[in-house]
Amino acid sequence: MASPTQAPARTRKTRGEGQWALGYREPLNPNERSKRDDNPLNVRERIENIYAHRGFDSIDPGDLRGRFRWLGLYTQRAQGIPGGKTATIEPEELDDSYFMMRIRVDSGALTTEQLRVIGEVSQTYARDTADITDRQNVQLHWVRVEDVPAIWEKLEAVGLYTTEACGDCPRVILGSPVAGIAADEIIDANPAIDEIAERFIGDKSLSNLPRKFKTAISGSPRQDTVPEINDVSFVGVEHPEHGPGFDLWVGGGLSTNPKFAVRLGAWIPREEVADVWHGVVQIFRDYGYRRLRHRARIKFLIADWGAEKFREVLENEYLERTLVDGPAPETPEGPRDHLGVNPQVDGKFYVGAKSAAGRVSGSTLVEAAKAAERVGSTRARFTVEQNLLVLDVDRSDVDSLVSDLSALGLDANPTPFKRSVMACTGLEFCKLAIVETKERAIRLIEELDQRLADVQGDVENPVTVNLNGCPNACARTQVADIGLKGQMVQDGEGNQVEGFQVHLGGGLGLDAGFGRKVRGHKVTTAELGDYVERLVRRYLDQREQGERFPQ
Ligand code: SF4
Repeated sequence: MASPTQAPARTRKTRGEGQWALGYREPLNPNERSKRDDNPLNVRERIENIYAHRGFDSIDPGDLRGRFRWLGLYTQRAQGIPGGKTATIEPEELDDSYFMMRIRVDSGALTTEQLRVIGEVSQTYARDTADITDRQNVQLHWVRVEDVPAIWEKLEAVGLYTTEACGDCPRVILGSPVAGIAADEIIDANPAIDEIAERFIGDKSLSNLPRKFKTAISGSPRQDTVPEINDVSFVGVEHPEHGPGFDLWVGGGLSTNPKFAVRLGAWIPREEVADVWHGVVQIFRDYGYRRLRHRARIKFLIADWGAEKFREVLENEYLERTLVDGPAPETPEGPRDHLGVNPQVDGKFYVGAKSAAGRVSGSTLVEAAKAAERVGSTRARFTVEQNLLVLDVDRSDVDSLVSDLSALGLDANPTPFKRSVMACTGLEFCKLAIVETKERAIRLIEELDQRLADVQGDVENPVTVNLNGCPNACARTQVADIGLKGQMVQDGEGNQVEGFQVHLGGGLGLDAGFGRKVRGHKVTTAELGDYVERLVRRYLDQREQGERFPQ
């Protein structure tokens, strides 16, 4: 017992994480308050009935910087605002009166008509801009709020949506770009993806999650939807007794605290994927942390609970049944990017073509749709490497399609560096960016093609180079051979200039691991070509037979 002279022991009060299921229903930060005050999906009505008529200045700030995201709209960065430290700049100074619009393309699957409509919308309303993202979406820029209802009308007439393309909700569902056509497929996941999209996207009971929620579902043995780094992943696997289905993984994600998803050890048949997915999302909604934004992803809950407890809660509280135990899928080897000319299971071919770091244009998409239709195809797919696939091509038409796509800058046989350089949106349009990425990536591809022309034939395992404009890692900083995180760095004369912190030796699949942040490995934007050339030459000189870029 404490003596009367001692201060009484302080009762240690645990601070709640804002988990709804534990009774914390009062919002603990402004984002939570905004979502509680008005379901973000309600903003659509205000855009259609008020803001589109009265213009940008009429938009309520809570809608502008919050709820608009649930409809795929972010204000883009005001042009001319520099990167680096923006702490002295008020958030509203970063807003342009134009928007980035993200069009979700679940499983990356499009008809050529949809591809053409996206291109035409871009030509009419978005200054012909278009980027293919590494989550199988398309992003347009320079969109005015006045035009948003007309854009939705055109997109929705062909079955495309921007609903929940951004925001604290279930984002686009990644799917194998070769679902239903690949000879080596374990199971076609697209029926499950369609069911989830139909039943749950736009469902207001799931539109207030602690933060974003990313899904990947692929029945390809190549695991071509980066399942290791999604919040929930269904990974194709053959069960020895029950046949083809999916292995359930939860809790992956990059950003500032990267984690790989963990297996729950459960095998899910295709017809149960949507219900199990719904259970996982509801756990996140009810038990996910809501106090601090940077701890509000499902990976933090998994890190604290572990896979066993998570599965128990899923089974007992949400599904009310036990799941079947299942085997782990085999770890895939080889490229996942589906480039080149490849046979389909039905005797036709698909052509996978590479964009330069995701940058295309509305006109390019229109022309790509026409090129596909000229050879009788009506189906296209986006990939998580910012590629475009055209399906259902006859052998006799392959060459003309390859040549038409190449004329549009979409290469079925790209150079090793065009194949392996990826970039996020960066300073050009993103308000969180510290440095420019897209144009730098495109220039880097050209530089590396020239600098390393003498060794191109030796680079049989492409060296992946991922450029990110800030620590958020939208272009997967930590899982590239050379991962680049944008920040201000010092140049040789002591000036603060745009540059990158380097992470070396990350990978997925067989090489899964996070790149090492090497102390002192920082490079200015201007020196990037030199730096990557040195690393690639050193790797080529020192590697053993067949050895990949060192981890
Ligand atoms: Fe923007 Fe940063 Fe994401 Fe790049 S990584 S798109 S700069 S938030």
